[in-house]
Amino acid sequence: MLRELFFNLCLLISIHYLLRFSFRSWPVTRRGRTHAARLGAFAAATLILLLFPAQPAPGIVLDLRAVPVAFVTLQFGPLAGLLVALPATAYRLWLGGVGIYAAVPSLMAVIAVTSLLRTRVPPVGPLFWRHWPSVIAIFGVNGLPLLLLPDGLHLFAEVYPLLLVTNVLGALLAWGILSERFHVLRLTSQWQSAAMTDPLTGLGNRRQFDLDLSAMGPGDALMMIDVDHFKRVNDTFGHHVGDEVLQEVARVLQREGRGRDRAYRYGGEEFAVILRDVKGDGLPRVAERVRAAVQDTPLQANGRHVTVSIGAVAWAALSPTRLVQRADDALYAAKTAGRNRAHLWQEAPTPDQGGSLQVGNEQPAAELP
Ligand code: GH3
Ligand code: MG
Ligand code: MG
Repeated sequence: MLRELFFNLCLLISIHYLLRFSFRSWPVTRRGRTHAARLGAFAAATLILLLFPAQPAPGIVLDLRAVPVAFVTLQFGPLAGLLVALPATAYRLWLGGVGIYAAVPSLMAVIAVTSLLRTRVPPVGPLFWRHWPSVIAIFGVNGLPLLLLPDGLHLFAEVYPLLLVTNVLGALLAWGILSERFHVLRLTSQWQSAAMTDPLTGLGNRRQFDLDLSAMGPGDALMMIDVDHFKRVNDTFGHHVGDEVLQEVARVLQREGRGRDRAYRYGGEEFAVILRDVKGDGLPRVAERVRAAVQDTPLQANGRHVTVSIGAVAWAALSPTRLVQRADDALYAAKTAGRNRAHLWQEAPTPDQGGSLQVGNEQPAAELP
């Protein structure tokens, strides 16, 4: 029996080495096809463990199938645990023998205890082994129903201690493999989003912008936005106020965005917005709306207002660099025209020469301070 259970333990660990590939992104998805496939894989794992059991007495089948079932219950709840247990339970019933009267209640008891402990034991993470008393409680009920069988006490004394030890050991090792995977996925996701986010404003940074820029297509538009006379804000009120102004402008840009629109911090006091599905003549209106929104927003720092100049361009089949160049040209025109205005890049009558069209505001930028 020791040899067979040891083999089952090795099988359990190998299977979990493969099962960890069913977790591919963080946070773990709990619905859809991926989730269904994952539950299917855990159900298959449970069944495979049952195919290579120890048989200490006729009709008695021992293996570590409770481990994947408990894991799924812990992670995804009792219903998922029951679903995963179903094929192995059906197969165990089909095998028959006196042991079925202990096997089925055992697995149900494991699911029940795991469900109760779910609120106390966090989803399996790097430090889950600290909850080893809960793991013992979960697998402690596995095998207790052996006592109900004829000659149960003798059987119980013979197999229960070894079954408990292998289950607990198996759970700690197998869940350790999954925890490691979770840890890596979580870290990767954290670093990935940190690498793409501007720490001051929380907007997408230049890296994210470049990525999204190259994915622009028909119907999209780009706005380059520059805070007017920002150096004066810094010089007059200090850099910390300057930082708060940038955060405030970022908030306005996020608030003004719709649907899949996304704002970025391009660098320094320059922002960019990629607009999606801009209808007809919508671009000048959006640009003017954003300009006015910044102008009308009192800064939290000191109740004053700042303004921005905007250069906007509709998507065209150009390289991303050329598109940014066009938006920049329009922005430059807005600056030289007096700031606090939005300009739209437009095709000039002569080829290769862009022009820009002012939209909305005719007032120059407010003087600061
Ligand atoms: P213009 O209207 O022509 O755009 O004038 P400006 O003063 O806004 O432009 P300029 O390029 O002369 O100055 C930009 C300033 O932005 C200079 C720089 O110190 C400041 N700046 C860039 N990044 C940050 C930042 O993260 N925090 C703060 N507080 N200031 C920044
Ligand atoms: Mg600038
Ligand atoms: Mg500026």
